[in-house]
Amino acid sequence: MIIGVLALQGDFAEHLAMLSRLGVQGREVRLPEDLDGLDGLIIPGGESTTIGKLAVDYGLIEPLRKFGNQKPVWGTCAGAIFLSKDARREQPLLGLMDITVERNAFGRQVKSFEADLEVPALKDIDKKNPPVHAVFIRAPLIEKVSGKAEALSSLPDGRIVAAQQGNLLATAFHPELTSDDRFHRYFIKMAEGK
Ligand code: GLN
Repeated sequence: MIIGVLALQGDFAEHLAMLSRLGVQGREVRLPEDLDGLDGLIIPGGESTTIGKLAVDYGLIEPLRKFGNQKPVWGTCAGAIFLSKDARREQPLLGLMDITVERNAFGRQVKSFEADLEVPALKDIDKKNPPVHAVFIRAPLIEKVSGKAEALSSLPDGRIVAAQQGNLLATAFHPELTSDDRFHRYFIKMAEGK
């Protein structure tokens, strides 16, 4: 099993560190051929406009779309924006997930915050399923899930911060910045086809 991490910009190193901690081989993805033979791909947090622009420059948009139609892809924060169909402004998007996101939804002053989230889907990973302590950094909100996309987790006020659509996973926060590896294990299971 090899999981790729899109390494154009952002915190890809933290995802690779988490994969290595879990004993899973990771691979930095910068060019279309780096996708060959991967079982899944993580798109990290960072700046979605930069990631999108570099993906255009490196000829990655179509190869990434093709990959996402066949294999699991997980986007965290900027990665979730990049996976979406609609970010309500012009920027390169993969458009794979039926979600509308609002970038920087939590305003400028409060750039980052942490919150405990209930994520029922993680019950398969840990039966006790304690809340996920989630780190939000200039995070987007998942304003709307439509089509086959489903909400996986929301803030206490009901605003959606994680969603799944079959093989595609989006989180507005950063599990790779905590020691809680349940989301990575959840994604690895998706990549194993379980
Ligand atoms: N604010 C960034 C964007 O709009 C996302 C921030 C992040 O990935 N932590 O792309």
